[in-house]
Amino acid sequence: MSRLYEILEHNRRFVASRAYEAYRTTKIPEKKMVVLTCMDTRLIELLPKAMNLKNGDAKIVRNAGALVSHPYGSVMRSILVAVYELGAREVYVVGHRDCGMTGLRAEAALERARALGVAEEKIETVARAGVQLDAWLTGFRSVEEGVTASVRMVREHPLLPPGVPVHGLIIDPETGKLDLLIDGTTGKTTAPATGSVES
Ligand code: ZN
Repeated sequence: MSRLYEILEHNRRFVASRAYEAYRTTKIPEKKMVVLTCMDTRLIELLPKAMNLKNGDAKIVRNAGALVSHPYGSVMRSILVAVYELGAREVYVVGHRDCGMTGLRAEAALERARALGVAEEKIETVARAGVQLDAWLTGFRSVEEGVTASVRMVREHPLLPPGVPVHGLIIDPETGKLDLLIDGTTGKTTAPATGSVES
């Protein structure tokens, strides 16, 4: 059975056994917070557990690297909608150690695109259309740099209402340990204990 049909089969049992009842809640985040974090597989369950978040507690936005790379892209819109429409009053940017976006280079990423069958002419067409692939496909030098840039982008956004703190944290994907980088309430930055550059 393919993964798709395995999922659908599981889903029929899930609904029939009313397993969903344990997860029932509302769309308004009980803890009035929105979390931007990475799509890393190790964080699927670990991050909510490590932050004591249950279904219904928070809005969680995930992407590669917990990055807000554009002030008017979909990540920033998601954060603003969480604040405007859903009652979030605090923003948490949570990057993590050993992130795949650390040291990602456009050149290497495009090499993998070609190996996966993306035609060279398509890459050239995109580049000719003015897309800065170099910048777009580049990660950060360290997770501290990524979190700091994302926090700044959200905090300085002209459409973020005043009085909404934007915190920056780094989670260990093995232990779930959180290190505070930026306390959005005081604006204080904590120097990371383990150095600012990752291997
Ligand atoms: Zn990551």
